[in-house]
Amino acid sequence: MPSEFDLIRQYFTRPTPSALLGVGDDAALLQVSPCMDLAVSVDMLVEGRHFSPQDGPGTVGHKSLAVNLSDMAAMGAQPRWATLALALPAADEKWLRGFAGGFFGLASKFGVELVGGDTTRGPLNICIQIMGEVPAGKALRRDGAKAGDEIWVSGTLGTAALALAFRQGRVELDQLEAAACLPALYVPQPRVALGLALRGIATAAIDISDGLLADLGHILEQSQVGAEIHFEALPLHEVTRRHINLEVAKNCVLAGGDDYELCFTAPADRHAELEELSLKLALPLACIGRIASGAGLAVLDGKGDPMPVEMKGFDHFAQ
Ligand code: ADP
Ligand code: MG
Repeated sequence: MPSEFDLIRQYFTRPTPSALLGVGDDAALLQVSPCMDLAVSVDMLVEGRHFSPQDGPGTVGHKSLAVNLSDMAAMGAQPRWATLALALPAADEKWLRGFAGGFFGLASKFGVELVGGDTTRGPLNICIQIMGEVPAGKALRRDGAKAGDEIWVSGTLGTAALALAFRQGRVELDQLEAAACLPALYVPQPRVALGLALRGIATAAIDISDGLLADLGHILEQSQVGAEIHFEALPLHEVTRRHINLEVAKNCVLAGGDDYELCFTAPADRHAELEELSLKLALPLACIGRIASGAGLAVLDGKGDPMPVEMKGFDHFAQ
């Protein structure tokens, strides 16, 4: 039976050239670059709540880091370091190998170094803290949206939620449709390059983890503004579009979680620049509406009439 320390050495100790000290001591030592703010965020993934026991360990490793990278993207921060606190029911080396593969695959793609953590026995639980750097005062926050700003989102909305609805038997998709949507749920791609490019352009930003209405709602609340968005302008995956007349698909688009796209606001005179950025990053960016001075969020249909929207985003304690 491998010891706790064998497991840490074998699966979680990798070179950390950008840390003064990485895994192995009582604490890691990190030096933030001059004139940079340190952006710190932590996310916990609990088996049965955020992922299912049937999910492959590689996708769990990928997704648990991806959701953290997405928070860095939403702040316009360059991800640098991570720590990993892991509770495992048993020293299942096959699972650990798969998990570490998914985790480090994504970490190396984004230049993130794992500098420490904690490993304990218990119900499967993955807690990752991510640290990144952003030039002092330049972070993208939720509280900067101004009346007249345009509202943008990256990628497509509701694809991950549609895949989850399929997995849970709430919507029927054929094999090809399912195969097209499932990657959005299992291997989300954090929009780090977009977040970095939005420094100096976006007035506010958030990553969409709990659904468009809920997450845009956080920007509106913290910026003390309202908004109007156009349902027909929302970017949908072609599979979602095919099923959009179903209530469940509409719900996925407006209130489905797990997209990990960015929603941001920018002055209208930056519109052309953002279209160019979309081409440069090969990432669709859709302008979905405008910030208004009054409070509230209105979703308008094709005729410009307000749609009745009752859906709320995911809330762990409201279920
Ligand atoms: P301590 O008892 O001082 O908290 P630990 O025995 O928990 O130290 O951990 C030993 C070293 O291994 C520490 O540097 C810690 O950061 C690191 N570590 C433990 N678990 C993990 C993990 N899952 N991933 C990365 N590093 C880890
Ligand atoms: Mg410890």
